[in-house]
Amino acid sequence: MITINPRRIKYYCELPENKFCNLIPYNDVGEYWYKDNNSNILGVGHLDSVYPHRRNCAIGYVGGRLTVISSSLDDRLGVYLLLDVLPVMGLTYDVLLTTHEESGHSTGINFTPPPGKQYNFIFELDRQGTDDCALYQYYTSNLVAKLKEFGFNGVQGSYTDITSMNLGCVGFNFSVGYHGQHMLGCYAHVDDIQGIIPRVTRFIRDNQYTFYPYTPAPIKVYTPSIPYKWERSVEYSTGNHDEAYWRGVYVKCDICQARDSTVHYSRTFRNYL
Ligand SMILES: [Zn+2]
Ligand SMILES: [Zn+2]
Repeated sequence: MITINPRRIKYYCELPENKFCNLIPYNDVGEYWYKDNNSNILGVGHLDSVYPHRRNCAIGYVGGRLTVISSSLDDRLGVYLLLDVLPVMGLTYDVLLTTHEESGHSTGINFTPPPGKQYNFIFELDRQGTDDCALYQYYTSNLVAKLKEFGFNGVQGSYTDITSMNLGCVGFNFSVGYHGQHMLGCYAHVDDIQGIIPRVTRFIRDNQYTFYPYTPAPIKVYTPSIPYKWERSVEYSTGNHDEAYWRGVYVKCDICQARDSTVHYSRTFRNYL
């Protein structure tokens, strides 16, 4: 069992996006980083964050627990697990790293797999807490039951990279251990991260040869209501975050709950302000 290295998490939290080109090939047309490892599953993470990455990470003890504090844990912690940890656990997967996720415009939408490749499923480690797996447009009671076998609560979720992607298969976004994302005090206890690794590993290892197909539903148009209720109105099956933003109506950011965020509203929405 690999031991989590907080200094390595700090390294990833503080690394500028352009330095990832040294670790994994960059596609400058699609604005994503992609490594084909000859696998039939794909691990996804995002490199952007709400606050700048530079020197923003502290390691210390909080309530007696070794803890990493950084606004970049969302999603550099997931990226650390993808690049450093899960391969050591014996998993092989292709890797896609995106940007612009925090504004609801993940560049994952630009990604198409190499010709002839069909992924069995895609997965991401960009969910707060320790026990969830967010399913977005892929949500079904069958998947929730499957996740329960592996100790995860299948939940709806609101948005991450895999929400913007349609690769003909479902996507899973697992809890990665951080709390308080989109705040400077975002933190993760190292023992929590340690506890997540064997469960995520077991899920991926036991399912990687099972094809989980997904066919997107037709795009629906819905009528806005004031005040806007994201949870009820958003059409998850479109895979298109923009649809959730309606002209002239202030919506609560589902990512951070703010009403006036300049960070999370999509470009489309801001154009209407
Ligand atoms: Zn994130
Ligand atoms: Zn975020």
